[in-house]
Amino acid sequence: MADFYDILGVSRDADSDTLKSAYRKMARQYHPDINKDAGAEDRFKEIGRAYEVLSDPQQRARYDQFGEAGIGGAGAGMPDMGDMGGFADLFETFFSGFGGAGAPTGSKQRRGPQQGDDLRYDLTVEFSKAVFGQEKEITIPHLETCDTCGGSGARPGSRPVTCNTCGGAGQVRRATRTPFGSFTQVAECPSCGGAGQTISDPCGSCAGQGVKQVRKKLRINIPAGVDTGTRLRVSGEGNAGLRGGPSGDLYVFIKVKNHPKLKRDGLTIYSEIQVSYLQAILGDNIEVDTVDGPIRVEIPIGTQPNSILKLENKGIPKLGNPVARGDHSITVKVQLPTRFSNEEKVLLEQLASHYSARGPQNHHHKSGLFGGLFGKD
Ligand SMILES: [Zn+2]
Ligand SMILES: [Zn+2]
Repeated sequence: MADFYDILGVSRDADSDTLKSAYRKMARQYHPDINKDAGAEDRFKEIGRAYEVLSDPQQRARYDQFGEAGIGGAGAGMPDMGDMGGFADLFETFFSGFGGAGAPTGSKQRRGPQQGDDLRYDLTVEFSKAVFGQEKEITIPHLETCDTCGGSGARPGSRPVTCNTCGGAGQVRRATRTPFGSFTQVAECPSCGGAGQTISDPCGSCAGQGVKQVRKKLRINIPAGVDTGTRLRVSGEGNAGLRGGPSGDLYVFIKVKNHPKLKRDGLTIYSEIQVSYLQAILGDNIEVDTVDGPIRVEIPIGTQPNSILKLENKGIPKLGNPVARGDHSITVKVQLPTRFSNEEKVLLEQLASHYSARGPQNHHHKSGLFGGLFGKD
């Protein structure tokens, strides 16, 4: 995997202007429209990718520190990580580096290659799929480079020509006279819109735009442990760049659906179970719902109302380290009956009188039913 600095032929401390001019030079040299050599197109993509990363101060810092792994796996030849390199997804979760859509900061110039916009896609995920991960197919509308003209906007066989008005500079200077003297204003060229080139014979497929709106199907890999607010980055699936500029990225914003019985907070899952007073007193073995399916748990003898049973390692997997899981915390709700069968009432009263015969307290409780059984009041 070639080093991004090597790809652009700049030193590691190159400033943004040096990067930009190196990128433009290389991009022109290898633009598939101009360069028909085998491998030129791949080289062109590499160049775009390298510039995309190095022109963004945050991404560049990560790249310097972590290499390719730090900035997402969509680079050419990245081994088997697919579009959703596991590490890349997570990086975006931990680093709030999402600066909104748009071209690299500070460059409002339209001349030359222009980076495509980043796009946002909101995805709702089932509770259990968020816990264990899921592969999901989504369809996104985005701009793709026109394959008929290779992004030039010119009909195949023709070429964009240097703009007559601005001579290819993309800007025009206008002398303005005012009472304070005359000065020169620089403005975007009205003929070419700043591109420096005009298309006399536009590509029929994209109407000269160089890009086309396409609905693209993507399989994305939702890692185990995502939560509402997790943001996954799909490198290079935003809008295509203009004039050979790199594509933007697609950001998938996750929203996790509520579960009827289970709640989550961080890595812990919370739920409640209802047991009868007899189960609480005598203990039992009952089935509870977990994300791993129903599990039998032991209700210990003498379980108190609202006591917590902890199922270790049955909670949410840690994002990026799914082997590490939180716990499932179960609150035991004890149901006291409000009605009794005659038989039940007789038994309970026998039990109560048994208690009061043994202990000195509670003789004066005339209801007597639970006095002995459940303590003083
Ligand atoms: Zn076209
Ligand atoms: Zn012009």
